[in-house]
Amino acid sequence: MPRELNQKQVEEIHNLLLESKKNIESTLNTISDSHNDLSNMDLNDDGDFAAASRDYNNDIHIKKQQVEELALIDHALSKIEKGTYTGLCEMCDSEIGMKRLRVKPYAKYCIDCRSYIDKK
Ligand SMILES: [Zn+2]
Repeated sequence: MPRELNQKQVEEIHNLLLESKKNIESTLNTISDSHNDLSNMDLNDDGDFAAASRDYNNDIHIKKQQVEELALIDHALSKIEKGTYTGLCEMCDSEIGMKRLRVKPYAKYCIDCRSYIDKK
């Protein structure tokens, strides 16, 4: 039988989730600030513009990732609030494991399921 996380472990994950959430929110704020700079910037030569739009595209990519991560964090946080957070894989119910959760506190799946989904 897979073991669900105890209260102390859930608390640890909860703190990690809140911390990541704060980091992501500040990253997202920085990104939107720099986009305001971009539109205010005086781009009078093509080289500047290419560099600026490359940064911009890169930011969009990071932003998309961060927004997705934030959604997963909120998902995990709402499970903790409802008391339904177990630290078990949402697909196969096996333990995700504290080691993995410390790196990715918002993980919904164990490594096996994750790599199965990634392959699809
Ligand atoms: Zn699994």
